[in-house]
Amino acid sequence: MTRRGALAARRFWTGGILTEIPVDLNGLFRSLGIRVYLHGSGGVDAACSRLAGRVTLSLNAQMPPPRRRFTAAHELGHLVLGHAPVLPGRPRLAWQEREADDFASELLMPAWALRRDSALLLPPGQRELVLARRFRVSRQAMGLRLARLGCLPSPKTEPPPDRSVEALFP
Ligand SMILES: [Zn+2]
Repeated sequence: MTRRGALAARRFWTGGILTEIPVDLNGLFRSLGIRVYLHGSGGVDAACSRLAGRVTLSLNAQMPPPRRRFTAAHELGHLVLGHAPVLPGRPRLAWQEREADDFASELLMPAWALRRDSALLLPPGQRELVLARRFRVSRQAMGLRLARLGCLPSPKTEPPPDRSVEALFP
């Protein structure tokens, strides 16, 4: 599996361009000179265009905010990684999509921050939700990320369900 996407995103953290969780995407896009706006329902989730040397990113307003954030980070990944623009209606190459996903994951949910925060004592079963809110990503994206980083407890070490209530009030 390629690590190029993650490495490119890590440079935003090690270079001090990003410093805080959750990532301030508005500030990041502003500092990079990328215009971002929302388009109405229907059509594609995201479209990137270059007009007079200025990059514009258009995002579907119907997407829930966490998904919109991930999609914006994914599109930034395509730009940063130098993936050539595609013609409308033509799919991107699968490896480019994977790289852009890796970039977005590391940008919004950096491994160092997740390893630190997933070590906190969070109630079992709530960790994904708590961390998803903290990093402002979807619960699904957080679940995948935690599993990939090996931060999820294995089923064997998960404590048994609490039966105390049933024991007290049979
Ligand atoms: Zn893509």
